[in-house]
Amino acid sequence: MVFPRDHQFAHRANRDGTTDSICKYCFVTVCTSTWETALAEEERRHVCDPVIVARWKKASAREAVEEAEPRPGTGTAARPR
Ligand SMILES: [Zn+2]
Repeated sequence: MVFPRDHQFAHRANRDGTTDSICKYCFVTVCTSTWETALAEEERRHVCDPVIVARWKKASAREAVEEAEPRPGTGTAARPR
């Protein structure tokens, strides 16, 4: 799955007036700047590291399995869909 380029980045305002640009796909902070043009330039150049993406996918899949498994002592289990 690949996000459209214009929706791939989240911006987080920092207390010092800078803004972080974070890739929503690989969760890397692509750039920190006070200038919108600098953020846009770094976002345009950003290419997700496939190793990092694979690591996130693996962690996400593991969480999904753990959520579906019954938890000891609770007596409840997620029902298969
Ligand atoms: Zn990325």
